[in-house]
Amino acid sequence: MSKTIFEYSSDGRHGVILPEREIDIPLSDMFDEAQLRKKDARLPQVSKLEVMRHYIGLSSLNHFIEKGMYPLGSCTMKYNPKVHDHLAKHTCFANLHPLQPESTIQGALELMYELQHDLAEISGMANVTLQPSAGAQGEYVGIKIIAQYHKAKGNTHKTKIIIPDSAHGTNPATCRLVGYDVVELKSDENGRCDIAQLRELVDENTAGFMLTNPSTLGLFETQIEEIAEIIHSVDALIYMDGANLNALLGISQPGKGGFDIIHFNLHKTFSTPHGGGGPGAGPVGVVEKLLPFLPVPMVEKNDEGYYLDYSHEDSSIGKVQSFYGNFGVLIRAYVYIKMLGGKGLRRAGENAIINANYIQAHLKDYYHIMHPEFCMHEFVADSSWQKKKYGVNTTDIAKRLLDKGFHAPTVYFPLIIPEAMMIEPTETESLETLDMFIQAMIEIAKEAEENPALLHEAPTTTPVRRVDDVRAVKQLDPIFKIED
Ligand SMILES: *Cc1c(COP(=O)(O)O)cnc(C)c1O
Repeated sequence: MSKTIFEYSSDGRHGVILPEREIDIPLSDMFDEAQLRKKDARLPQVSKLEVMRHYIGLSSLNHFIEKGMYPLGSCTMKYNPKVHDHLAKHTCFANLHPLQPESTIQGALELMYELQHDLAEISGMANVTLQPSAGAQGEYVGIKIIAQYHKAKGNTHKTKIIIPDSAHGTNPATCRLVGYDVVELKSDENGRCDIAQLRELVDENTAGFMLTNPSTLGLFETQIEEIAEIIHSVDALIYMDGANLNALLGISQPGKGGFDIIHFNLHKTFSTPHGGGGPGAGPVGVVEKLLPFLPVPMVEKNDEGYYLDYSHEDSSIGKVQSFYGNFGVLIRAYVYIKMLGGKGLRRAGENAIINANYIQAHLKDYYHIMHPEFCMHEFVADSSWQKKKYGVNTTDIAKRLLDKGFHAPTVYFPLIIPEAMMIEPTETESLETLDMFIQAMIEIAKEAEENPALLHEAPTTTPVRRVDDVRAVKQLDPIFKIED
């Protein structure tokens, strides 16, 4: 790494000239003795240009979407148009206070009302709450609604929720948090739900079923009608994990196909920023019969305008978030949906699917793909060939991609595919970029064959080499290395 400004500080050099003090008041007249510094702060003395270079350099040490492709499957790292940020920062929005009288925030309420209804239309649901601030919190709201539904019906015997083995880890965690037992459903040889096993697992104690569609294998679950019939036959509900809705946009409405509840990740499909822990938004949509259980308040409209509606407070699961959710994120998703419109959203979905299939088709001779059929917005390749023949694993391949200017795909997930590499290009990458990524992956496949040591040592061009992932999350020292 090049020198930091702390290392090339020079006494007396500076970047700003402060005005002369007009009145000379001794510092000891303004502050307590105990508050005064005994020694000068150890700040670097550098010029403005050097400060600029320092921060520009720091800003590009990490990988980000504006720097290069970020094909992190299941995370939908698409480009977030800058106009979203520009509008979210507008004083008309940024200076609002959530406790202002409703008559003075009609615009903000209208935006939320419209977003509720646009998401309801996209998903085919009756209405949508915007409160949850992450996909996982959306799941929590959805499963709480399942519990509230059964409570209202006196279904006290319902104790379990069935989840396929390909599910995102948050799904079983959410169910446990709400107090349900989790029962795992195996995938069949086609990567779809094993219907015969589902029939065996479902009984009177089943409260619900949680399904990700497209699945984390990037496959469309083709047996939804049959699944819905089995689940509904015991008065259980079907939850769809819709974190990754890109492939369904404008093409299929889950609410019309048997699902009762869905959550959306605005920070994935609807192009609001994510990473670094948020802020995000995980709105939840429900069918008509579950409307009474949605969190309060909802945004509604009458002759006088828009208002916050608490009328179903008694049946609601309650409030899950301070005020009305991450409003700044909602603005960005609203702008995205309105700018694209129905046709644009559908094109985004179609292009996401085409891009994923394009990469899959070009890589299938170089990497093993368990389900090499047409995929949706993502697909899962794995490094089992490379591991067996050359001792190169998925971590090695992922790290080598960093040297070639790409972020790695999601690795070792879903858990049912050993050495998984889950690749999601999204619709925002051009054909040229897809070709460069394919080229890099093919080069790596050749390197695995000819020079596996190169891959074991990767990455060599990043400021930090391989970190101990487990220690790194507990010990947040960004320059801590595995050999320390
Ligand atoms: C990302 C994701 C989640 C969780 O969303 P968060 O906003 O990270 O809490 C849940 N399910 C699936 C399939 C996901 O991809």
